[in-house]
Amino acid sequence: MMYNFFMQESIFDVIIIGSGPSGLTAGIYTARADLKTLLLGGSSPGGQLLITSEVENFPAFPNGILGPELIANMKKQAEKFGVVFVDEDCVSVIGSFAEGFVVKTGVGNVYKAKSIIVATGASARWLGLENETRLKGKGVSACATCDGFFFKNKIVAVVGGGDAAMEEATFLTKFACKVYVLYRKGKSDLRASQIMQERAFSDSRITFVFDTEVKDVLGKDFVEGMRIFNGKTNEEKVLKVDGLFVAIGHEPNTGFVKGFLDLDSKGYIKTSDFTKTSKEGVFVSGDVADFKYRQAITAAGFGCMAAIDAERFLANERPPRI
Ligand code: NDP
Repeated sequence: MMYNFFMQESIFDVIIIGSGPSGLTAGIYTARADLKTLLLGGSSPGGQLLITSEVENFPAFPNGILGPELIANMKKQAEKFGVVFVDEDCVSVIGSFAEGFVVKTGVGNVYKAKSIIVATGASARWLGLENETRLKGKGVSACATCDGFFFKNKIVAVVGGGDAAMEEATFLTKFACKVYVLYRKGKSDLRASQIMQERAFSDSRITFVFDTEVKDVLGKDFVEGMRIFNGKTNEEKVLKVDGLFVAIGHEPNTGFVKGFLDLDSKGYIKTSDFTKTSKEGVFVSGDVADFKYRQAITAAGFGCMAAIDAERFLANERPPRI
């Protein structure tokens, strides 16, 4: 209680909101630049890597590393340089560079800073099935780039009808011997761009299954199949697959800055000059502004950029009147 009171009285140079690879990397950089840094990690800190098992494409780990271990290492490194961690959900940000920024959290605490880095990421949308949740990281994934490698010569299914689903399916043919694309509507309803559709249609390893919903994911310790339902024929059957990739979109975690920062039509934070937002003194990093790359390493690099930009901004601008 005393500890929190002390932090609420302090004025931080930077408050970083988000504790995935982007926020943690930003913290390592701001704290090493001698900026007094508070990192608001959320009530379940760690980001998407916490639901990933093996990460094989983060440089410097030739034997791979578990997602939660990678995050724990980054956190330890940030703590070493003095980042202060508070695991509370941020519910709003108000203020300006001239007046200072005030961040309010879900438990009613209030923290003040001269600058802000928003690194709250984006959450993959899921189908919402109980067994889908249970088998996440055990054959259920939302990232083919991350997990496709584990499905060499296996049969997998991708759910969705947008560009992401086409891209995931096409990427998965590098590894899997067969890839089903399950789409809940008909061929003419596909949302994906023509070129991405054509690429997927022309690949003999990809089979489209239209008008079909996933009713359940089957398997004890690992995915073994799915129960699917065709709404046109009213037919329900089991499709044997070794993996399920859900590609039904992502939701940027920006609800708490709606009205404070400019967002694009899909809710991602609009940027200019790499990490700047529509508010002076507020920077952004990672998947909350990037729907294109969505990788731990790109989010980490983005966090480094935001930290350098915040540091230079604070060094060059007149100090705020707080
Ligand atoms: P989209 O919103 O474009 O597509 C989501 C798809 O998932 C839709 O086909 C939708 O079906 C389906 N869907 C949504 N909810 C469910 C559900 N509960 N059950 C089953 N199916 C569901 O998302 P994407 O992630 O594909 O793309 C997001 C943005 O990123 C787009 O602008 C896209 O162009 C872009 N992008 C670009 C890429 C590239 O250029 N290389 C690669 C990936 C994405 P329905 O059609 O019925 O609504």
